[in-house]
Amino acid sequence: MISVQIQTAAYLFASILFILSLGGLSSQESAKRGVLYGMVGMAIAILSTVLGKDVQGYTYIIIAVAIASLIGIIVARKVEMTSMPQLVAILHSFVGLAAVLVGFGSYLDPHTQTLQGSEHSIHLIEVFIGVFIGAITFTGSIIAWGKLDGKIRSKPLVYPGRHVVNITLVVISIVLGVLFTMAHGTDGMIYLYIMTAIASFIGVMLVMAIGGADMPVVVSMLNSYSGWAAAAAGFMLGNDLLIVTGALVGSSGAILSIIMCEAMNRSFLSVIFGGFGATPITSNDEEIEGEVTSTTHEEVGELLKEANNILIVPGYGMAVAKAQYPVYDLVEMLQKEGKKVTFGIHPVAGRLPGHMNVLLAEANVSYDIVLEMEEVNDDMAETDVVLVIGANDIVNPGAITDASSPIYGMPVIKVWEARKVIVMKRSMATGYAGVQNPLFFKDNADMLYGDAKDSVDKINMALKS
Ligand code: NDP
Repeated sequence: MISVQIQTAAYLFASILFILSLGGLSSQESAKRGVLYGMVGMAIAILSTVLGKDVQGYTYIIIAVAIASLIGIIVARKVEMTSMPQLVAILHSFVGLAAVLVGFGSYLDPHTQTLQGSEHSIHLIEVFIGVFIGAITFTGSIIAWGKLDGKIRSKPLVYPGRHVVNITLVVISIVLGVLFTMAHGTDGMIYLYIMTAIASFIGVMLVMAIGGADMPVVVSMLNSYSGWAAAAAGFMLGNDLLIVTGALVGSSGAILSIIMCEAMNRSFLSVIFGGFGATPITSNDEEIEGEVTSTTHEEVGELLKEANNILIVPGYGMAVAKAQYPVYDLVEMLQKEGKKVTFGIHPVAGRLPGHMNVLLAEANVSYDIVLEMEEVNDDMAETDVVLVIGANDIVNPGAITDASSPIYGMPVIKVWEARKVIVMKRSMATGYAGVQNPLFFKDNADMLYGDAKDSVDKINMALKS
């Protein structure tokens, strides 16, 4: 058992480690150190909480921690890099559920029943708001998991008058909140239950209304909500560290959402309120002019031998195929021949913020050749060959030219402005946003059909021969 002073000092130290962790995660070079800070901070946080005064039932705590750690280790070892976004979404839902359960528990806790006057009212407001945010996070994250996993259609589910319905439900929740704070003893439980059901419904509808290319923002937004849910749980439990940690996650998630919105040229409000004011677009069935041409691995090998300036644009398909390792070999080979090779990374490539950077770092690709979209777009006209590896939406010219396209307005990597484009994918299938890509029909673009890893392996062989 540790004293309150030691616990406070430990909390402060853990908070500093969490801030250092976030700072570390902001660049690839320091990301590993950032994760380490986070792990040490979390260990200190758990230990100093568990060893604090008034904590009992160590046997149950140890059993629960052991089971949870085992599940965590198994899941972390088994999960594929391509399933990471779903895992993150489902983990957010746990934070939401925890906030709901802490809220129920805290309301029924006999110790909190003895609170008087404004202290009691403030506690009840904390419980109500905490459960509200927690329930939205819980169900919203489950829907996000379903959409990212392909179990639920990614298309936005919008119906007329949905904003009126949502606002009415929020107003009803506020009325329930007033009744809840006025109830005696634990009589307010019924209002808490009804509000939880309403908030759960709002969570479902909010995320169902967002879809397609806006999904990256949903992931970062739910990350932010989970932070606020944790902070709310911190208020209910009177745990300062949980408040600080929750606020850190909540605000960093909100900043990330704004950055993602800017990158996609979307209004933050329109995304979080489920396409507020946006006209639902059904499809872009417009006829695309031009003819699709395909090429072979040997031809691509010859093309690369001739080229001096090569750009690689990876997308979700590279993650699916695990093509980053042969891509690394390809880059090594080309660089040895004195060619300039760079990567162009779109902010929403893949299924997670930073997805492509993580994959390339995993394959030991040097950070200094991994550039952002704006940097490569400026030099596109001087690029001899672009290899688009498993990317689709992020290189779709329709985002600039076709006002009926669901991704219209989203900045894209303008690969078609280069001299030659090779698109490596298995078929003519659409990407996440479900829209056809006019790039494939351009005169200077050739398709190289097949699994991306297989294709890059074969190109490497062609280059060696
Ligand atoms: P896309 O989903 O647009 O396209 C990926 C392409 O990869 C598919 O068209 C598919 O074509 C191809 N592919 C799949 N498997 C393989 C394989 N084994 N080998 C070769 N190709 C393969 O991905 P992008 O990265 O271009 O764009 C990301 C999309 O995901 C955007 O719409 C973004 O908004 C959305 N999104 C992003 C999130 C994020 O945080 N980054 C989160 C949620 C959604 P084929 O089947 O023909 O092979």
